[in-house]
Amino acid sequence: MNNDTILVINCGSSSLKFALFTAKDFDCVASGLAEKLGTTDAFITIKKGDNKTTSNLTCSDHSTAIKHVINSLKEMQLLTREPIGIGHRVVHGGESFSNSVRVDKTVLAEIEKCAALAPLHNPANLLGITLMAEFYPSTPQVAVFDTAFHQSLPKASYLYPIPYHLYTDHGIRRYGFHGTSHKYVAEIAASKLKKPLSECNFITAHLGNGCSVTAIKDGLSVDTSMGLTPLEGLMMGTRSGDIDPGLFEFLCKIGMNSESISQMLNKESGLIGVSGETNDMRTLFELAENGNERAALAIEVFCFKLAKYIAAMASSLPSIDALVFTGGIGENASQIRAMTLARLPILGFKISSQLNECHGAESDGRITDPKGTLALVVPTNEELVIARDTLKNAL
Ligand code: ADP
Repeated sequence: MNNDTILVINCGSSSLKFALFTAKDFDCVASGLAEKLGTTDAFITIKKGDNKTTSNLTCSDHSTAIKHVINSLKEMQLLTREPIGIGHRVVHGGESFSNSVRVDKTVLAEIEKCAALAPLHNPANLLGITLMAEFYPSTPQVAVFDTAFHQSLPKASYLYPIPYHLYTDHGIRRYGFHGTSHKYVAEIAASKLKKPLSECNFITAHLGNGCSVTAIKDGLSVDTSMGLTPLEGLMMGTRSGDIDPGLFEFLCKIGMNSESISQMLNKESGLIGVSGETNDMRTLFELAENGNERAALAIEVFCFKLAKYIAAMASSLPSIDALVFTGGIGENASQIRAMTLARLPILGFKISSQLNECHGAESDGRITDPKGTLALVVPTNEELVIARDTLKNAL
């Protein structure tokens, strides 16, 4: 078991993220990201401890990038034999998967079927699985789904109030995403409370470039802000989140079509849309501090929507054991947490400025006064969850 490793792959349409873990104690010994694959600007960054190397992968495709990753790991003596399992992030598991599964022909066919629901993501995830099978034909591969944790949503939460046959004929319903992260931080929060997860009620807020909140009742996801696609819900880096569906007709009348509307809502909205500057929260704060009013407005709208959604999630819970912040913004942006909780005295939050400023580092994640409702900062680790699920399903 000593040299046994687990390789985690997150294959996007033009990117490839990987992480190599030891199977013995789930130590992440190397990780990396290849970006802009298929273009002349393709490059890869590989991290081993504090060491970071970046190489050009000019015009490389996913296959060349994977070859580069495997060769680099071998050269670094980190992959002395084939991994005992390869875990893949798969974005959409539809209604077919409520847990991680070992990949076989039937699973592959199901993931392919779900591609209709996630045309940008599932084909890339499948490509990752196919390519790894070429490199390591006898290594078990495991699929870990973003949607799986939310398969416990009750029907009242997942149905859209549109003609029912669209659900039965086309699977049009709310699925939810970021499930791996919501589940992981809920498990950590439960362990901090010294209670089994099955006895905990949480609201978890995953705030990265994509953002979603989830209501977790007795350890199960009972409502979440993302829907059929990861566009619904909160305002995000470049995504609008909820809008009036009537906007479509209006935009068509002024000359836009479904492609240009989709591009606008997915890539040109959210923080970048309102600020007109950037989708990066850190940069927005710098701009706002220097008097940029649109940057300040983008931050304000973000917190307004977040507070509104947290309050909405509370309506699915009998009580709140904790609100959990995670993701790049949730873990690091103390001002976002403060501005959001300031809008929610109705839920009993009393933020402690001192604990919030240091992201709960000195209080086991707690950022609120013990007299009020608990809010925690819990760093997420989706790769670790994928590695653990891979080992569980590969053996
Ligand atoms: P992804 O969803 O791509 O994994 P991350 O979870 O890394 O993204 O989150 C990226 C977001 O986190 C960016 O908007 C970034 O500006 C923000 N962020 C990271 N660190 C800070 C910080 N110290 N203060 C404010 N925002 C931060």
